[in-house]
Amino acid sequence: MKLFFFFSLLVFFLYFSSSTARGPLHSSLPSGIRNGSRISFSDSVRRQLFQDKQSKLSDDRAKGYMTNSDLEKAVKEFGRRCSNISRIYSIGKSVHGVPLWVIEISDMPGEEEPEPAFKFVGNVHGDEPVGRELLLHLANWICDNYMKDSLARLIVENIHLHILPSMNPDGYFLRRRGNANNIDLNRDFPDQFFPVNNDINARQPETRAVMNWLREMQFAASASLHGGALVANYPWDGTEDKRRNYYACPDDDTFRFMASIYSHSHHNMSLSKEFPGGITNGAFWYPIYGGMQDWNYIHAGCFELTLEISDNKWPNANELPTLWEYNKMSLLNLAASLVKTGIHGRIFSSDSGMPLPGSVTIKGINYTVKAGKGFADYHRLLAPGERYEVCGHYAWVQTKNHTYLTGRSSHDSGLYSRSRGHNQGEPAKY
Ligand SMILES: [Zn+2]
Repeated sequence: MKLFFFFSLLVFFLYFSSSTARGPLHSSLPSGIRNGSRISFSDSVRRQLFQDKQSKLSDDRAKGYMTNSDLEKAVKEFGRRCSNISRIYSIGKSVHGVPLWVIEISDMPGEEEPEPAFKFVGNVHGDEPVGRELLLHLANWICDNYMKDSLARLIVENIHLHILPSMNPDGYFLRRRGNANNIDLNRDFPDQFFPVNNDINARQPETRAVMNWLREMQFAASASLHGGALVANYPWDGTEDKRRNYYACPDDDTFRFMASIYSHSHHNMSLSKEFPGGITNGAFWYPIYGGMQDWNYIHAGCFELTLEISDNKWPNANELPTLWEYNKMSLLNLAASLVKTGIHGRIFSSDSGMPLPGSVTIKGINYTVKAGKGFADYHRLLAPGERYEVCGHYAWVQTKNHTYLTGRSSHDSGLYSRSRGHNQGEPAKY
């Protein structure tokens, strides 16, 4: 059997080179109660009781922010309003039975296509609510503008964008970092260096939901949204010896590139005095263990960033439109980078012409990207300005190396510049 590549899309980089919340500096390992399933009444009753308490907290710092019921209504309203380019689904429930709603945006939502999928996850930490607000803005903005804005259209037509506005609705309700069991969800994933979360029965339902989601669906890249700092954080988040050090993963260049897309498209993230270029290696900032980002890269084939999008975790709600404007081009450009950059193609058998769900490696980078099951399509982000030798694999067979030169980087390309002046559109109302 022989294999061959079909590069359906070879668009290369035309632009620039170059977490707190992963949470702020307390990297607490999971502790405390690990299982909330002892409550005996049904999910619906539990949820009702939970919501009833909500009014008691209505006068706090969350004034002007969506409650969990507001968020659910906004997601469903979005689904009705933008039904031609979206699908709403839930990946599971929180400890207190709140559905973890996801918005998928695509011209063929729910259908398998030879296209990459990107995900945004907000509100991992309950007390970092800006992300969940901005992600609803993002969905609505794309819906309102994809007919007239080229970047929005590119996303709708070429990417399956999945948005989980809140991974931790219980923590949000309780106005705290952890979930209802007071577990930090960004320390609850299996860790590559330490067996901190190896007991599968102890894992939180929100974490399990995300892990199952990634088993079912292949994402090429993603970002989770946090608050408490202003920086784009990339792997690794932890070090083998627990020391604070720059700890590079095999795709360090590519991750620096991705993080720079976010920071340079942002209003002022790249101007940071604390973080050169507005980006940081996670372990260099402060090591954490059991984080979602590294697990995505190691176990789900997904290049994930951890984005700290506002210094203030709970800014006054009237600042949200400004924060949306500050982050809008970053969110759009990061998602769009998935098809504007890297190598993309499909793997076929040269004997039968059938697609083969094999994998792709790059000489010199110890990382394998799997092709999709149905179409055998692969989507591999890569840093620009380099010559790469690409090799396809299926079972014991592999292709000859194919060499590709990725485009030069430039900060000046209009493609990603926030000064390009994308249509602003009307502010979304929901
Ligand atoms: Zn956080």
